[in-house]
Amino acid sequence: MAKPVILTVDDEPQVLNAVERDLRKHYRGEYRIIKAGSGAEALEAVKGLKRRNDPLALFLADQRMPSMTGTDFLAEAMLLYPEARKVLLTAYTDTEAAIDSINTIGLDHYLMKPYEPQNLYEVLDDLLEVWNADVELPYDGIRVAGTLWSPSSHSVKDFLARNRISYQWLDIEADPIARELVDAAEPGGHRLPVVFFPDGEALIEPDNRALAEKVGLQTEAKKTSYDLIIIGGGPAGLGAAVYGASEGLSTAMIERHSTGGQAGTSSRIENYLGFPKGLTGADLASRADAQARRLGAEILTAVEATKVELDGNYRVVACSGGDELVCRALLIATGVTVTELKVSGVADLAGRGIYYGASLTEAAYYKDQHVFVVGGANSAGQGAMEFSRYASKVTILVRGSSMGITMSQYLVDQITDTENIEVMTRTAVEEVSGEEKLETITIKNSDTGDTETLPAAALFIFIGAQPHTDLVDEVVERNNAGFILTGSDLLKSNGGRKMWPLKRDPFLLETSVPGIFAAGDVRQGAVRRVASAVGEGAIAVSFVHQYLKTV
Ligand SMILES: Cc1cc2nc3c(=O)[nH]c(=O)nc-3n(C[C@H](O)[C@H](O)[C@H](O)COP(=O)(O)OP(=O)(O)OC[C@H]3O[C@@H](n4cnc5c(N)ncnc54)[C@H](O)[C@@H]3O)c2cc1C
Repeated sequence: MAKPVILTVDDEPQVLNAVERDLRKHYRGEYRIIKAGSGAEALEAVKGLKRRNDPLALFLADQRMPSMTGTDFLAEAMLLYPEARKVLLTAYTDTEAAIDSINTIGLDHYLMKPYEPQNLYEVLDDLLEVWNADVELPYDGIRVAGTLWSPSSHSVKDFLARNRISYQWLDIEADPIARELVDAAEPGGHRLPVVFFPDGEALIEPDNRALAEKVGLQTEAKKTSYDLIIIGGGPAGLGAAVYGASEGLSTAMIERHSTGGQAGTSSRIENYLGFPKGLTGADLASRADAQARRLGAEILTAVEATKVELDGNYRVVACSGGDELVCRALLIATGVTVTELKVSGVADLAGRGIYYGASLTEAAYYKDQHVFVVGGANSAGQGAMEFSRYASKVTILVRGSSMGITMSQYLVDQITDTENIEVMTRTAVEEVSGEEKLETITIKNSDTGDTETLPAAALFIFIGAQPHTDLVDEVVERNNAGFILTGSDLLKSNGGRKMWPLKRDPFLLETSVPGIFAAGDVRQGAVRRVASAVGEGAIAVSFVHQYLKTV
């Protein structure tokens, strides 16, 4: 396959040559460097690359060019290569134009001239890493062949996508060559999907563990005993893994599906500190996952913690697959599952046009179709914004009288400004129906009592949450809804002091069992935000240190 291209454009020949030289020095091995002396020349080059279907990773454009500014060039070029990263070279006086470009064309970065090559490399390395993680190159990797409406095909795609494993989807109903491939591997094609690997092996309707092993994710711990075990690899668990490992604790994290948790399913997190353009949940998860591993944390994927037991000062975690891991301190960061929509037809059609959360893997399949979103909080708003990029129309159904009560104002504003999003307040889903997949949705207006049945391609549900705490049933104290009590909440609860065995008060995030901590959404009173979950994970580690000094 052709090397991906980095294209640089500048009208000053000397600067252009210097930039080209810097790029070649660092990126020659993995990328093809192409230079152009004007916006028009660069656009011609981009069109040529597109015709050959060559991958293009990054544009580096000078802002101040006489016939076409860098911003104007990027706006044109990104129509052909929307996934390519965009960087502007600016003079001091162009800073404002560059900042505007963040909003207008989604500029990824701007660099002031003259730049230090090292500075350039740091910025581009970061962007190219993200591009490499996101991009779909002409394919020679894993291929998943199935039908769009098969729940197991959805589950495999979701597992791969949320673990940031690239794959190519082959719809056997639309692609006769894919059908032939499947028939050869699984005569009759009854078990789907069939997952084809570059080494020639094919897995038929694999479970998550088999997939994880095949794609090289760690599924077995290297040791049996750790200073700190973290259950759950969402933002709280990842925060704790980064701090635990970096502060010298032998740390293992157990994640039953994919790191990132709920945040990993978010189409765009706009309010996480340090990312002015926002970032996708997948991007955040992949950065945090890499950071935790680099610092020495072990991350087990597709492994479920099924039970926690106490053995003196040791905490024992039983895992799916039969392994038992022992630790001195344990962090429960198992988060929540969003509440199911208990309406006739929903359970039968889940995964076949009905999805919980913003399933990015599915959004693009609803190009030019009418999709519905249920819920009035931020996650529903973000989902609707993402779907509006593909769907002909997005209808948000909200039970209350407005979205503003539960949704951040910036999202309400974005939704109001998006032409193909419609908001129906005081409206709930009554019923959904379809044979093979979702076909219609019946909605009811709570003021008038009127019902209406509308054709629907997809329904995305975002309505509340239940904590994952069965594994600590009868081990740590929970509230009636199953959320874990920690710190002063324990002492304030009905059982009060009796729930806590030591003379000292529990640490802020400590549960009713000394040495077992809880962080993130799984805790009673959690703020339910990415940043607070990450922060709690980090704080928990500082209490782990204090606790370990006492045992
Ligand atoms: C679609 C969506 C969009 C959102 N957008 C935003 C946003 O823009 N900004 C914001 O601040 N917040 C946002 N949130 C909320 C935010 O994602 C959560 O508050 C945050 O993810 C909570 O992190 P957590 O680590 O506590 O739990 P979770 O993210 O729920 O992670 C828990 C992890 O534990 C794993 N797990 C559970 N049980 C077990 C077990 N027994 N064994 C092993 N692993 C287990 C799960 O698989 C999961 O990966 C959004 C949420 C959703 C659903």
